[in-house]
Amino acid sequence: MPSEFDIIQRFFSRDVDAPDVVLGIGDDAALLSVPEGQQLVVTADTLIENVHFPEEIPPEFIGYKSLAVNLSDLAAMGATPKWVTLAISLPAVDEVWLEGFSRGFHGLAERHHVGLVGGDTTRGALSITVQAMGWVPEQQALLRSGARPGDQIYVSGTIGDAGLALSALQGNVSLGADDYQDLILRLHKPTPRIELGLNLRGLASSCIDISDGLMADLGHILEASDVGAEIDLVNLPYSKPVARWVDESENPLSPLVLGDDYELAFTIPPHHQEALDILAHDLDIRLTQIGTIVSEPGMTLFNSAGEPVKVTRTGYDHFGTP
Ligand code: ADP
Ligand code: MG
Repeated sequence: MPSEFDIIQRFFSRDVDAPDVVLGIGDDAALLSVPEGQQLVVTADTLIENVHFPEEIPPEFIGYKSLAVNLSDLAAMGATPKWVTLAISLPAVDEVWLEGFSRGFHGLAERHHVGLVGGDTTRGALSITVQAMGWVPEQQALLRSGARPGDQIYVSGTIGDAGLALSALQGNVSLGADDYQDLILRLHKPTPRIELGLNLRGLASSCIDISDGLMADLGHILEASDVGAEIDLVNLPYSKPVARWVDESENPLSPLVLGDDYELAFTIPPHHQEALDILAHDLDIRLTQIGTIVSEPGMTLFNSAGEPVKVTRTGYDHFGTP
C-alpha cells in the first residue's frame, strides 16, 4: 500500500520551473512571488462525487474538470493563471483512478503553464478542492459590477451543450451517437476561456463565467451593476442539437437555466464593438451579442415575435428548493 507521501510524489508532484515559484510542493507551504504592479487573483471550487459528477465518470475527466472550472473563474476575472493547489480526499488508493485523474489534471495545467504548488491528501469520501491563483495588472480585473445602460451583452461559444449532455446522461432526452459524443465532451471537458478573458481587459465593462446557467450568472452581473437587461432569445448561440432540443422542448428556456457551460458572459460599451469583432476573428471564437443593458432592473426576454416571455426558474442553486 503506497503511503500518502508516495501518492503525492507519484501522482501530484511535478517539476515546476518558474521564477515566481520560489518553493513548491515539499515544505509546509509554498513560497510564491507576485511581480510588482500585478494583483493576486484567488479562487477555489470543490467537486464532490454524486453532486458534481456521477460515480462512473472516467477519472481523467474529473481531473481535467476540477482544474478547468477554476481556470474558468480566473478567465472571467481577466487573470493570467499561474499556480494551483489541490486538496483531495480519497476513499481508497486506486492507482488506475489516480493515474487517470492526474493525466487529466496535469494535461490541462501544462497547456496553460500552471504549476501545482501544494495541497493536501486525505482519506474520506471522494472530494476534490482546487484553488487557483493568477495575476492581473492593477485596476484591470474584469468585475461583475461594471455594466452600464447601453452596454451590449455578449456570450462566447454556444450555450446549453453541457446541459443537454447532462439531460441525456440522466436519460431525460435521447441523442444520436455523434451528437452525444460531441456534447458529452462539452460537459466533461469544458474549455476555460482564458485567452478571451485576457483580451477582454480594457474592452469589457463586466464579465462572469457561466457555471450555473446564463440566466443566473447574467443575473449576478445585473445585481452587482444595479442595472437590467433585455435579451433576444432568437440571438442565443446554440449548437445544432441544442437548437433542435429548444424547438422540440416544452421548455424552450432550458439552455438558459442549465449550468456547466463555462463560457464567458460579458458586457461592452458600444464603441468597443469593432475591437471585439477583430478579437473574435483573431482568436477564432464565436462571440454573440444577445441583448442590451438597460437602467430598469430585472431581465426581460423577448421571443421571435418581439413579445416578452415570462421566466420562472433561473439556474442551479445547491441550497434552493427544486
Ligand atoms: P503537512 O502535514 O505539513 O500539511 P503534507 O504531508 O500534507 O504536509 O504535505 C506535504 C507536501 O505535499 C506539502 O508541500 C503539500 O502542499 C504537498 N501536498 C500534499 N497533498 C498534495 C496534493 N494533493 N497535491 C499537491 N501537493 C500536495
Ligand atoms: Mg497538510
